[in-house]
Amino acid sequence: MTHSEFTGFGTLAVHVGQEPDGVTGAVIPSISLSTTFVQSAAGVHSGYEYSRAGNPTRQSFEEAVAALEKGEYGLAFSSGSATTATIAHLIPVGSHVILVNDVYGGTYRYFTKVATDNGIEHTFVDLVNPENIKPEFKENTKLVWIETPTNPTLRLVDIEAVARYTHEAGALLVVDNTFMSPYFQNPLTLGADIVVHSGTKYLNGHSDVVIGVAVLNNEQLYTKLKFLQNAIGAIPSPFDCFLANRGLKTLHIRMKQHAENALAVAKELEASDKVDEVIYPGLQSYKQHELAKRQSSGYSGMVSFRIRGDINNANKFLQSVKVFTLAESLGGVESLAELPSVMTHGAVSTEDRAKLGITDTLIRLSVGIEEADDLVRDIRQALSEAVPDQ
Ligand SMILES: *Cc1c(COP(=O)(O)O)cnc(C)c1O
Repeated sequence: MTHSEFTGFGTLAVHVGQEPDGVTGAVIPSISLSTTFVQSAAGVHSGYEYSRAGNPTRQSFEEAVAALEKGEYGLAFSSGSATTATIAHLIPVGSHVILVNDVYGGTYRYFTKVATDNGIEHTFVDLVNPENIKPEFKENTKLVWIETPTNPTLRLVDIEAVARYTHEAGALLVVDNTFMSPYFQNPLTLGADIVVHSGTKYLNGHSDVVIGVAVLNNEQLYTKLKFLQNAIGAIPSPFDCFLANRGLKTLHIRMKQHAENALAVAKELEASDKVDEVIYPGLQSYKQHELAKRQSSGYSGMVSFRIRGDINNANKFLQSVKVFTLAESLGGVESLAELPSVMTHGAVSTEDRAKLGITDTLIRLSVGIEEADDLVRDIRQALSEAVPDQ
């Protein structure tokens, strides 16, 4: 696709990085499995030397995600967590990092159990009020790491405000955009310096690839991170890049359906007397609905709710669903349900779980792209199994 005036999301998703093969004319570029590339003279090559440093299939994926995130440069990694760890190498020993308090569990684990041993200190801050970040900056604060919405209580962080405070303090802002996907939210346009994704979730979208990606605009920062991508070597395989890129081509179609189905499910839950609270940014009743409308163009497929009763009712619900599958992870075409207090957030201390509102009755749904009516009926029947009529 060489016509730069055709920049609609779906057009970019289908075409960027997907030029027909110059030799065979194949419309879908071949998966480039070769680890090494021919040189016409020592040090003279076509841009590829060795596959860890650069690979055509990986580059296609990186270019596509960068275009969708409205960024200049993309870099892919072997997982979302490898992306996080590699970015953490951008800052020197002795640095301080500020993270949103209910950051993704793997990011929490990395900064509390790994980065500390490498001389990086951290502070967790509740950022529902962005002003809370101001007193937390230190002389050596180099990085701020946020997610919005957070997981699993779906609280929002005002990206623009946090970007402003972060830059005033001379630090870099990283936004983990996994939950929204570039279809609904583009943090770079709101002031973020680096956007990261666990491509394992919505980007690939089919629950069959573990992959990560970072997108950024600053050329110097890109050069540094690309150096680290090669030096650390946590790169995805060409086959995984191919699959993730193939998933990406339908991202816009899937996200529309995820969001439509999630709203239908959220409304069903809200109408039920077997549910104490529903958390979905697309609901009028959602506390930060105005912020949601301002910084994103939709509300994605994640819905959390508190079932009436105790953990037994929650377990009964999870055992009663028939279309939803009881499993961790999110962002795939199939609907999933899980109990964060036991599953995804089981490693968080009881005390911290209580502070974050991760109670034993909080159920997290990743609403898939099945028929909305089936999902709604499944929720209804599982609720009536799990909670007796009043
Ligand atoms: C899953 C996830 C990650 C980690 O990604 P992996 O690909 O599992 O390593 C990071 N952030 C968020 C928000 C996630 O959901």
